[in-house]
Amino acid sequence: MKKLTIILSIFILVSCSYQANDELTIYTSRQPQLLEPIIEDFFQDTGIKVNLLSGNAQELMERIDIEGEDSPADIFMTVDAGVLWQATERKIFSETNSDILKKNIPEYLRDPSNQWFGFSKRARTIVYSSDKFSDNDFSSYEALSDPKWAGKLCLRTSKKVYNRSLMASMIDAYGYDEAKAVVLGWVSNLATEVFSNDTNALKAVSSGQCGVTIVNTYYLARLLDDPKYDNLSLFWANQGDRGVHVNISGAGVVKTSKNKANAVKLLEYLSSMKAQDFYASANKEYPVLASADIDDSIEGWGEFSEDNINVSKLGSLQKEAVFLAQEAGYK
Ligand code: FE
Repeated sequence: MKKLTIILSIFILVSCSYQANDELTIYTSRQPQLLEPIIEDFFQDTGIKVNLLSGNAQELMERIDIEGEDSPADIFMTVDAGVLWQATERKIFSETNSDILKKNIPEYLRDPSNQWFGFSKRARTIVYSSDKFSDNDFSSYEALSDPKWAGKLCLRTSKKVYNRSLMASMIDAYGYDEAKAVVLGWVSNLATEVFSNDTNALKAVSSGQCGVTIVNTYYLARLLDDPKYDNLSLFWANQGDRGVHVNISGAGVVKTSKNKANAVKLLEYLSSMKAQDFYASANKEYPVLASADIDDSIEGWGEFSEDNINVSKLGSLQKEAVFLAQEAGYK
């Protein structure tokens, strides 16, 4: 009996010292400078130290798979609901039931099974050249398929998850066939080959190579720091119907985390006013917490109504979107 008591007390001692290890590790595809000030604040408030491992989202998911039970990752954080959805398919996350997260984050910006949560919003909308056009020329993403835009449209490649998610939102709104007709129209209106990134598409609009494109707004905000790009104007798409396509950056607790309670604490912190004011503005995105501030530099674009399709659908319709792009010849 005495022997058993000794063994038990050693076991309790070991498990206590294990729990005393408060450090958290985030695997993230976001730039470390977006997170460093928040995790420093979190440390000051809670005494919990947070380590960051940055890298490509696909490689980080691969790494979590390979590391298995031994993975030091407590949180996986990335951008685009399409990628977060892939992470749920790969069974990377565990469920998090937090009243704070449910209260701070609107329902459509989090996973219905509570595996991941959106912490900033990324609006993808129309940007045009004010040398050639005005707001009156635009209405919706779909209207850019009209033959009047022949030779005037520039697009980023459909291989980027941002465009797959946008197409997924159109499939959800109109069904596959109608969404495909829109994308076929886009393809026949292209002024150039598709671009590898949003910034190059914007530069092509500014230089007059094309008249209009569709991009995430933070890329425009960054370019507008340079007066050379003053001829780029933003138009909020689909304000007469379903609203602007919105995606997220988000995160969830990793299934194999040994520090789940603290990991949830950190996610709750990320959704708080203090972190939200900083996190979204640092990348010129939009906060998910309604009462948080928008960055001064993008306030001038005004308010917009957004498509409130649950962002998890952007993931579940991803395969159809890929197929649609192939069928429509959108490279
Ligand atoms: Fe981006």
